Amino acid sequence: MTGIDVVTVDGPAGAGKSVTTRALAQRLGIDYLNTGAMYRAVALRALREKINLQDEEALARLASACRIESLSGRTFLDGEDVTDAVRAPEVSQSVRYPANTPSVRAILVEQQRRIGLERPVATEGRDQGTVVFPDARCKFYLTAAPEERARRRMGELAQRGDAASFDDVLAQIIDRDRSDSEREVGPLRQPDDATVVASDGKTVEQVVDEMERVARAKLICLQGPARG
Ligand code: C5P
Repeated sequence: MTGIDVVTVDGPAGAGKSVTTRALAQRLGIDYLNTGAMYRAVALRALREKINLQDEEALARLASACRIESLSGRTFLDGEDVTDAVRAPEVSQSVRYPANTPSVRAILVEQQRRIGLERPVATEGRDQGTVVFPDARCKFYLTAAPEERARRRMGELAQRGDAASFDDVLAQIIDRDRSDSEREVGPLRQPDDATVVASDGKTVEQVVDEMERVARAKLICLQGPARG
């Protein structure tokens, strides 16, 4: 049994998975797991240690040596809070290397499953409903048009004080979609049994309301009536 009381949220970069999954977990009173931050933490340590990102064996050794915690909105790497550091542009540009390395994925998938077996959790990523928790009762596929996702990424970058052109950000989003969908292990794919939520033009609150209604109807660990 692989974590039936797990809510999975998959979807492309910039669809709003982190903010909505975190809010949903809070409303449901369960933990929130950010699996993208786990891949980012491996990329961060690889950059810091100047490891050749194309060296799969070195990446796998590094991934098994990393102690990563990414529950409840903060990410720790070997005890250090790297929540902001893993969002840096150079990490975003390098994360495809650990994410596309099957042996790294096997290590992180195993850690994610262990977390999902220990507690009810809302987990977001690319392969959560397809590979990591295929038996989950409640699966979402959250999506939005590439232009809308690029606009959101621009807002995030501006908040960090990082300048970027819209065209560059859009091109990066499209490139990441391709890399995420085309990899052989753990590609981004809509689970057959997922509820599809399009977040274009919706507030976070509206998206989370929609998800909460579905989750309350499906999860056995939850008791009590739906809000509102
Ligand atoms: O969601 P976020 O943009 O933080 O994810 C960073 C990268 O990690 C993604 O581009 C994707 O390639 C990878 N990822 C993955 N599998 C997951 C979560 C993220 O391959 N479950």
